[in-house]
Amino acid sequence: ISLEGFSHKSVSKQCDKYWFFEKSQESFPGQSFGLEIDQILFHIESQYQDILIFKSTNFGNVLVLNGIVQCTEKDEFAYQELITHLPIMSHPSPKKVLVIGGGDCGVIRELVKHVKDESVESITMVEIDDMVIKLSTKFLPEMAKYHNHPKVNLIIDDGFKFLKETTEKFDVIITDSSDPEGPAEEFFQVNYFKLLLNALDAEKGIVIMQSSENIWLNIEYLRDLLVKARTVFTNVKYSQCYMPSYTSGQLGLIIATNDTEKDLTKPLRQFSVEKEVSLFKYYSKEVHSASFVLPIWANQLLNK
Ligand code: SAM
Repeated sequence: ISLEGFSHKSVSKQCDKYWFFEKSQESFPGQSFGLEIDQILFHIESQYQDILIFKSTNFGNVLVLNGIVQCTEKDEFAYQELITHLPIMSHPSPKKVLVIGGGDCGVIRELVKHVKDESVESITMVEIDDMVIKLSTKFLPEMAKYHNHPKVNLIIDDGFKFLKETTEKFDVIITDSSDPEGPAEEFFQVNYFKLLLNALDAEKGIVIMQSSENIWLNIEYLRDLLVKARTVFTNVKYSQCYMPSYTSGQLGLIIATNDTEKDLTKPLRQFSVEKEVSLFKYYSKEVHSASFVLPIWANQLLNK
């Protein structure tokens, strides 16, 4: 798509170059993360959301939904690895895994590492927008390379609706959703935590979700989200990772279980250093524990 004359609310020309600026009056008023655009690869208004994919100068190909960056080829592994391996390595036997959202298929790529290891036996992914999957296989091929892996059961449906209707129980549920503005709105409510609990193996099951905000952007929102999670789960923790392509440079994850004995900050299963290096770029047993360590002010607000 030619940049000359391309019109999108997040794209503008600055000093002869075209830039993408992530703006949200609701989530981060008064600040914006920007990336220089090399080429617009695709733009469409799908049934559910505005989907923009562009090639950036420094971050590789970038997937944007409703004006918000979902992933870039440069740093996606940080998010995908942490949201996947935190719960999987904390669970004694994570055989059945459910992913809600996850259209870029990066979480599936990480889960397949545990299929090869014979700990994960089945992966169900419920994504509302098949356009995101199709476009990811074309423009984010390294992320989406296992979208049709034989152990993956792909369901195109609303994750919230799926959870209301399912009678299955899962060992781990990963909510890899977009932010609350749009089709993922219902994922950030008490009712959603109740549905997660209902679909989870009651004793040892673990859930994890992206928290949409981080400690710098909106710590009050995060505190409220953790309060909501704690009305349903007895053991709830907040973890974070470095993520240069998210506004303010961090991404937060909420991980929860009703296994009160479990220390979620320590991986129950551990790989040798050699195996970690061969499998991962971001996750290690040290990173697992370190991701839960918060600065004093944030710890006081979120964990006390
Ligand atoms: N890593 C990203 C982030 O946090 O910025 C999120 C990944 S992106 C793959 C999120 C996916 O959630 C999108 O593909 C979107 O279509 C999907 N999604 C949003 N609402 C959904 C819903 N109600 N049910 C299922 N999937 C949904």
